[in-house]
Amino acid sequence: MIDLKNLTIKKAHEALLKGDYTSLELSSAYLEQIKKTDGDIHAYLEVYSDVLEQAKKADEIIKSGKATVLTGIPISIKDNILIKGRVASSASKILENYTATYDATVIEKLKKEGVVFMGRTNMDEFAMGGSTENSAYGPTKNPYDIERVPGGSSGGAAASVASDEALVALGSDTGGSIRQPASFCGLVGLKPTYGAVSRHGVMAMGSSLDQIGPFGKTVEDVEILFNTIKGQDTMDSTTIPNKTSEVIGSKKMKIGVPRDFLNIGGIDESVSKSFEESLEKLKNLGHEIIDIELPNLKYSLAVYYVIVPAEVSSNMARFDGMRFGERLSGKDGIEDYFLSRQVGLGREVKRRIILGTYVLSSGYYDAYYNKANIVRELITNDYRKAFEKVDVIITPTTPGPAFKIGEKSGDPLKMYLEDIFTVPINLAGVPAISIPFGFKEIGDKKLPLGIQFIAKHGGEETLFAISKNLLGQ
Ligand code: GLN
Repeated sequence: MIDLKNLTIKKAHEALLKGDYTSLELSSAYLEQIKKTDGDIHAYLEVYSDVLEQAKKADEIIKSGKATVLTGIPISIKDNILIKGRVASSASKILENYTATYDATVIEKLKKEGVVFMGRTNMDEFAMGGSTENSAYGPTKNPYDIERVPGGSSGGAAASVASDEALVALGSDTGGSIRQPASFCGLVGLKPTYGAVSRHGVMAMGSSLDQIGPFGKTVEDVEILFNTIKGQDTMDSTTIPNKTSEVIGSKKMKIGVPRDFLNIGGIDESVSKSFEESLEKLKNLGHEIIDIELPNLKYSLAVYYVIVPAEVSSNMARFDGMRFGERLSGKDGIEDYFLSRQVGLGREVKRRIILGTYVLSSGYYDAYYNKANIVRELITNDYRKAFEKVDVIITPTTPGPAFKIGEKSGDPLKMYLEDIFTVPINLAGVPAISIPFGFKEIGDKKLPLGIQFIAKHGGEETLFAISKNLLGQ
């Protein structure tokens, strides 16, 4: 029996090299686990039928002595990232039968390493949501309590790793979609610097905010994946060269706490408690905790929910039943278009298209979209100023632990408030990591909590260093 619960990339790699087990045996163990638990969890929309063939190929590479650390490692992929020849639906009905015609850049890179793709994971439709309840194919359940959501939009990705149905996963994060599910499922999740990872081949949601990023049980697993997928790409002109800002490493750090922003209310007691405990621990480790001000962050949600719908309404235009998506037939082309979108798209997606079209319309463009962009600049400046004083900023990842399925799905504003700590980071384009820290106990259930470290552009190394230090990894 392979101990999947405590398995990491490096441990698996060493075992594969030593011949303790083959990639075929490792992948079979994960398939076995999927068979056992995914009926309840529903992390996957599809488990690939060729997992074992992929594993056999990985075994050949290992035998030939050409293995890298990722060869033969089972990974799950969020359903909005393209793998050539496989279905990619973004958990939408409109793309139910869409087969990708090319590999996303991140997939190309992973294929070169010889990873094993286990399957595509469930998500909120087109990555819009924070619970996976907006999937057209039914929600994913939280492995810590199946009455609760795993978070979203990359809820399937998080649940697949947390329930040992994959060793690691790739997701995407536009306003928190990696960090929030990582926090709800007791995992490490990274939202890289905007432009650090190519977006070529990920279905666009908010193009000025989207980033692909990794999930893992340890900081090191996330670091290995990030270092594999990052890099400039001619297919995505927003990518930046692989240049990290000063590596702060194991140095004692100055850690900023935005007290005002944290006092806005609505934060669960358990979250405040574990957050204060993390500060205490950091102090004991010799780091300096400094109060900082980020005065414009209180506008983040308002700004985000103007900019995102605006970009969504443009990006979703291609799903019209003609260029992309299932085409339904009405009496003429216009009716085809309306029918295809009416039937093919879910409520949240439609809500954002309507809102986005409104804020971009000629009479309101200045009042909403332009205004939001100005305030976005102020938020970015707040971070810039703060990083003149501190090496990293710390906040909770979410205001509370995983909530119950159905608890917020009827009230979009309540759901949007979930993103309070995660969206400002995407607006500023800086990197952030969520790491597991503490639990909230409810009855016999232990719900994981997360804290978030934020660094300046290109500061991923700093995030890894401080996270490892705090977790003792
Ligand atoms: N929950 C946020 C939203 O609904 C974030 C989504 C994401 O990061 N893709 O927009």
